[in-house]
Amino acid sequence: MAPVAQRVRGTQDILPADQPHWELMERAAHTTATRAGYQKIATPIFEATDLFVRSAGEASDVVAKEMYTFTDRGGRSLTLRPEGTASIVRAYFDGGLDQEPQPVRLFYLGPFFRYDRPQAGRYRQFHQFGVEVIGEGHALLDVEVIQVGWQWFSELGIGDLGLKLNSIGDEVCRPAYRELLRDYYRPHLDTLCEEDRIRFERNPLRLLDCKVPQCQPLKAKAPRIVDHLCGPCATAFASVKGALEATGIPFELDPSLVRGLDYYTRTVFEYQHGSLGGAQNALGGGGRYDGLAAELGYRSTPGIGFAVGMDRTLLILKQRGPVQPEGLDVYTLALEEVDQVHALKLASALRAAGLRVVLDPGDARLDARLRKAARRGARVALIIGPEERAHGEAVIRDMTAKTQVTVPEREIVAAVTQALAGA
Ligand code: AMP
Repeated sequence: MAPVAQRVRGTQDILPADQPHWELMERAAHTTATRAGYQKIATPIFEATDLFVRSAGEASDVVAKEMYTFTDRGGRSLTLRPEGTASIVRAYFDGGLDQEPQPVRLFYLGPFFRYDRPQAGRYRQFHQFGVEVIGEGHALLDVEVIQVGWQWFSELGIGDLGLKLNSIGDEVCRPAYRELLRDYYRPHLDTLCEEDRIRFERNPLRLLDCKVPQCQPLKAKAPRIVDHLCGPCATAFASVKGALEATGIPFELDPSLVRGLDYYTRTVFEYQHGSLGGAQNALGGGGRYDGLAAELGYRSTPGIGFAVGMDRTLLILKQRGPVQPEGLDVYTLALEEVDQVHALKLASALRAAGLRVVLDPGDARLDARLRKAARRGARVALIIGPEERAHGEAVIRDMTAKTQVTVPEREIVAAVTQALAGA
């Protein structure tokens, strides 16, 4: 009979062999974020649909094509979170974090959901590590955030990393730039791809996002927003660049790095990795969103953050080969059925002493069970046979040296600990 269900397209199992990599990423996130004073936050997997419609924008790909939206039994429209920032801004106000000393530095880890076209490095359930700094708009915070992400990659030993940087201005300078861009593109509309003609009308900044070859020559010569920033935006951008240089993080200015929504302001950045081909080379990105809180109906409050993709980072970590899983200390086995419960008790005494112990309840031959113990990476085996039982003893076998000692039961914990110290 065929199995009743298969893994859903665009999802993946993170099997035990990948878990050491995964734990490495989680630990590195915790270390780098807490070192810089960031506190962990977890928000719900689903939220009111309006939260994402407002934050991502009605016309965005996310809202138009990618959200997992459903109506619950109470008739509410809910959506599996496609990104983290909107929920965190909501939680910042809901949870009274806006009343704490500002800025509030937060980090999160977890699954996100987008109805994307699945391929290597692109899934429908994926995972992000992200940080947000909310409540203060100093340009140095932009650099701090960029640095936390950069250090996460360093902590993981990932080199060959690039940082792309741009400023997209604010509500003062961007409207004029937008018109400048339209004036530049207008005479060439008939040479543009179809998507770009729509962007020209709806969201000209996104013309700079276009990857279609026929549009590239025009894009290359387009006016750059960094040449048209207002005074405060230009000063902030100069501070960001100056401080980044001081940190030694190499960066490349990329005038085509943009965000299509009005609430994004000033700094935008992206982490890229050489080994990931084409469109999937972005490991993460972020930017300043000083207009988001107001867009969601809260008091206007500055914020900046990034999100990096853990699944894509996993692909890079796996290129380095497998990580040794956490080993096993003791493999416990009874030779006869009557001793199984006894073995169970010994195993739990050893666990209570802090050791990692597996109990083998099988009845295969001893050599086959010892081979299993070796495959599981056990350092010692604890064997209870009829003779040992009769004398109130057990055998401790050093799996590497293949030597054995028989010890009285009441000394087992001490003897195993000692054997492990020598193994
Ligand atoms: P975004 O939230 O779109 O700025 O994405 C930030 C990062 O999350 C990207 O650079 C990717 O590394 C990762 N990411 C976004 N969407 C997906 C996806 N569908 N599958 C896997 N990773 C993703």
